[in-house]
Amino acid sequence: MLLGGLREEVLAANLELVRRGVVVYTFGNVSGISRKDGLVAIKPSGVPYEELTAEQIVLCNLDGRVVESNLRPSSDLPTHIELYKHFPNIGGVAHTHSEYGTAWAQAKLPIPCFGTTHADYFHGPIPVTPDLTADEIAGEYEKATGEVIVRTFANIDPDHNPGVLVAGHAPFCWGNSAGDAVHNAVIVEYIARMATHTLAVNPDARPLARALHDKHFFRKHGAGAYYGQGRGGA
Ligand SMILES: [Zn+2]
Repeated sequence: MLLGGLREEVLAANLELVRRGVVVYTFGNVSGISRKDGLVAIKPSGVPYEELTAEQIVLCNLDGRVVESNLRPSSDLPTHIELYKHFPNIGGVAHTHSEYGTAWAQAKLPIPCFGTTHADYFHGPIPVTPDLTADEIAGEYEKATGEVIVRTFANIDPDHNPGVLVAGHAPFCWGNSAGDAVHNAVIVEYIARMATHTLAVNPDARPLARALHDKHFFRKHGAGAYYGQGRGGA
């Protein structure tokens, strides 16, 4: 099996989405990339998670052509490919229709940073894309979804903001591996739920002060990071 290690990793990441309760039925998909080989491993389209095997994880090149598999890749593959092409440091992408993240995407509102949980992961609000145009929807819809994400990040660093809400759709998240992308997808759902509760408790709640936001973000990321025992410490 070509790139067996990557396919095992992508299988495990897809199953982790289910275990964490952020997908129902076959909604959602995770991919990982081997930059060296220029190949993306992604969940096949429409296969129930409980039946997934590493052999069924589809290997594609960056033109979207299947390199090894009898199955069709997830229909969201062109979105994943746009992100890999334009965000050169990412190693994995996770897409869910998780409940609270999707609610904010449907409300077409960025999620303000109300607390340090958010600040630990995002150096700013979780952005929301503009709507796709009718022509984009009628054309290569999934590629256009990737393009609108990339446009949204024209002045935002994807390495410091590992996810986005696609307007009227749902979150797309990324990370340095497939597993890291899933971790960020679970965190985005948690942040979205907490922001919803914060506004329920106090509709006039204000975002975190910039100094506290920066403190939490930069103690975990960047040259001066000192938090935990390496990535993922608590
Ligand atoms: Zn979707």
